[in-house]
Amino acid sequence: MTQGGNQMYYIQKTLEIAGAHKLKLDYESKCSNMHGHNWIVTVFCKSASLDHNGMVVDFAEIKRNVSDHFDHKYLNELMPGKAVGGEFIRINPTAENIAKLICDNVPFCYKVTVQESNGNIACYEED
Ligand SMILES: [Zn+2]
Repeated sequence: MTQGGNQMYYIQKTLEIAGAHKLKLDYESKCSNMHGHNWIVTVFCKSASLDHNGMVVDFAEIKRNVSDHFDHKYLNELMPGKAVGGEFIRINPTAENIAKLICDNVPFCYKVTVQESNGNIACYEED
């Protein structure tokens, strides 16, 4: 055990969310048609101290914050956006943007990886 040094607790949880999306791209792509994925999401959380239960964050709470929000959903409708000329334009639900949105939804989360298909993984990480 180190004395006086920094300490950090880390947890990670992997879960699967099924859903649909389509991407608005500036090139021809079959991804512009609505289609589905089983995204494999890994959520990384850290905290220098534990809560009164001895946890960084309950794994069940991570599941609630990810599955209840994103599982079996049309992800285009969940993405953040802004009003542009009377129309609400949402950002593309790419694996990268999904990773950031999940990170923003989970307490103590600093990193999320999203595997969209076998061998294709996006990662979002905060400093
Ligand atoms: Zn896709």
